[in-house]
Amino acid sequence: MRLPRARKEASDETPPTIQKTEDEWRRELTPAQFEVLRRAGTERAFTGEYWDCHDDGVYRCAACQAPLFSSDTKFESGSGWPSFSEPAVADAVTLHRDDTHFMTRVEVCCRQCGGHLGHVFPDGPTPTGDRFCINSAALTLDRQQTS
Ligand code: FE
Repeated sequence: MRLPRARKEASDETPPTIQKTEDEWRRELTPAQFEVLRRAGTERAFTGEYWDCHDDGVYRCAACQAPLFSSDTKFESGSGWPSFSEPAVADAVTLHRDDTHFMTRVEVCCRQCGGHLGHVFPDGPTPTGDRFCINSAALTLDRQQTS
């Protein structure tokens, strides 16, 4: 398994700086956000708010508002999920080996709150070679802020 370049910058052992109980998260998030961010769920392809969004801005974590991805790095993957070539800043996310569902994948989490965002695959068409495949429900597009 080739780990993406972001792995080198990520020190995954660092605990999230924002820590809340599951009850607190459940109160603050919508059911769809909670299922993805706190239960590592996956929204159905082509159903999320942002897979076909072409607006400019910064995609923030829906749980803690940390800036995670820039619209500049968003590309058409055909997957039905928002896809990015790299994080807005390398240490915005942490990467973890994920062996669930009879696959080996690399899970992507928000560094600040530990929320599950999606996975990164080494088949991106972009210069980085990485395809960050992220659930819309984990993101909030901040259209006021551009990178
Ligand atoms: Fe977060």
